Amino acid sequence: MPSASTDRDSGRAMRRGLIGRCPNCGQGRLFAGYLRISPTCPECGEELGRYRAADGPAFFTISIVGLLLVPILGWSFVILRPDPLVLALILTVSITILTLVVLRLVKGAFVGYLWSMHEMDKGA
Ligand SMILES: [Zn+2]
Repeated sequence: MPSASTDRDSGRAMRRGLIGRCPNCGQGRLFAGYLRISPTCPECGEELGRYRAADGPAFFTISIVGLLLVPILGWSFVILRPDPLVLALILTVSITILTLVVLRLVKGAFVGYLWSMHEMDKGA
């Protein structure tokens, strides 16, 4: 852990990001759309757009949804014994919805973590 990051509480920043709030003040909106980060916080003026999550949130979302999928698939196939086509249809829809929800939550928390670690885009 770099010592320069101790001035920002990463746990608090991640919790604020998770609920879609600015990791700095906890008041302003973090997102300007579904997944687009606001360039600056409307409340405190923090430059949120400089914290680029890249593929990190997608990786964690795939991991979380995959870990949830395996027991759900096993349980539903053994206990409920649905028609495989019905099971595939239900899983496809539910996984799509779950992925879209989890992705936004994870991206918020990820940007909060980047903010706490001062990991901003320095410009190419
Ligand atoms: Zn703010």
